[in-house]
Amino acid sequence: MTAIVHHLHPVPSVGHYLRLGHTGHRKLEDLHASGRFAIDRVVVDAAHINEQTELLDSLRTSDTEIVLDPQVAELSTPGGFLTSARKLPWADSRGPYASDNFDRSRIIDMAAKIADFAIEHRVHAVLCPTHLLNGPQDAWLAVDAEMCQMLRASLDARGANIVAIDFPLLTTYQVLLDGAARSALATHISDLPFEYLWLRIANFGSDKSAAGFRKYINAARDFHEIGKPIIADAIGGLPSLGIVAFGATGGICHGVAEKERFYPHHWSKPRAKGAGGGSKKRVYFSGLDAYLNDEQARTLLTTRNAKPLLGCSDMGCCPGGWEDMILNHTTHYLTQTTRRVQELGRVPEMRRADHFLSHQLAPADRVARQALRLRVGDKKIMEKLAFNSRKTDDMRHVFEELRTTVHNLTRSSVPLKRTKRTSVASGTRGR
Ligand SMILES: [Zn+2]
Repeated sequence: MTAIVHHLHPVPSVGHYLRLGHTGHRKLEDLHASGRFAIDRVVVDAAHINEQTELLDSLRTSDTEIVLDPQVAELSTPGGFLTSARKLPWADSRGPYASDNFDRSRIIDMAAKIADFAIEHRVHAVLCPTHLLNGPQDAWLAVDAEMCQMLRASLDARGANIVAIDFPLLTTYQVLLDGAARSALATHISDLPFEYLWLRIANFGSDKSAAGFRKYINAARDFHEIGKPIIADAIGGLPSLGIVAFGATGGICHGVAEKERFYPHHWSKPRAKGAGGGSKKRVYFSGLDAYLNDEQARTLLTTRNAKPLLGCSDMGCCPGGWEDMILNHTTHYLTQTTRRVQELGRVPEMRRADHFLSHQLAPADRVARQALRLRVGDKKIMEKLAFNSRKTDDMRHVFEELRTTVHNLTRSSVPLKRTKRTSVASGTRGR
């Protein structure tokens, strides 16, 4: 007799994407090999895909969705053009692209090259090559819209109709807050053949004020009428959980303890030699939702009474306690971040805002206050703790107010994982 097995495969209810970035993929390979890489969707930069083939191969075998970023927005700026992205097959060797000389033949050529690349690297989805828009009148918008159509046609012509296209809407915080600009943008893109809308807002990220997040949540709601899942790109930490909990987006995307903010200033001018590149070790304090460098982390955690409050007590994450938290800061960051997103994802959508407020934000607020009572000998750390406590307190007020004043919220639908497809769902090819 065959036993009836009830598989409990809940629909992944928060789309959680990790940008692999260009450093640290060896560490991620190790994590994946030891079964501790719990994120099931990644975004890979085209310029770094060749260094990451081993990691991508193992991710593919574990059913991880792979999304390709062709990095065209960078390639259209003086600073971005000087990065390794300029070696990509669709980069123009003469310099950054400009919207006024980007005619139809260039669109066709770029779409074909990106389609070939996507197929060669067996990705599940491609971020449409879009640009940082200064509003609905920006000349790039028409190019980006045509590119989306052309990329779809190029993929289909190559028999790759199951490779999805997502549309990253890159714009500024000012444009996002402008209601007329938002609806013009939404109207312009609503019929394009993309599946998920990625919102990537310049100079906006986890460090934004609490009031800024409320505005973001309200603004994102205007894009719900397009009827496609939305992903908040380049935001992490508690604010990203708030955005998802309140249904503004159905997914989030961030880097490995970085890219929690989209700050394209280095695109506009070339980086000075020696600037950027090397990043300091950032240790994540999940209780506080804050980062300290390793030296500060050590000072704080060796302060009397700090370990029980701030040290990682999650045996599945840092079995060696607080020292693991510093030593294996990437593992710790990814484990803690993923656990919180998954926790929220298990809560039915209509209860998520309450869950976020009482089980995620309120505890962080409490820890932030308690941390202020520690006698830390370092003034900079104390200032950071004070700043953090004010920020968490503000967030709690803003989100609680949002909870009581906003009714009948529309919600972004949840972006489903696209690894098991054999055909394309209807309704994803525009209307
Ligand atoms: Zn840990």
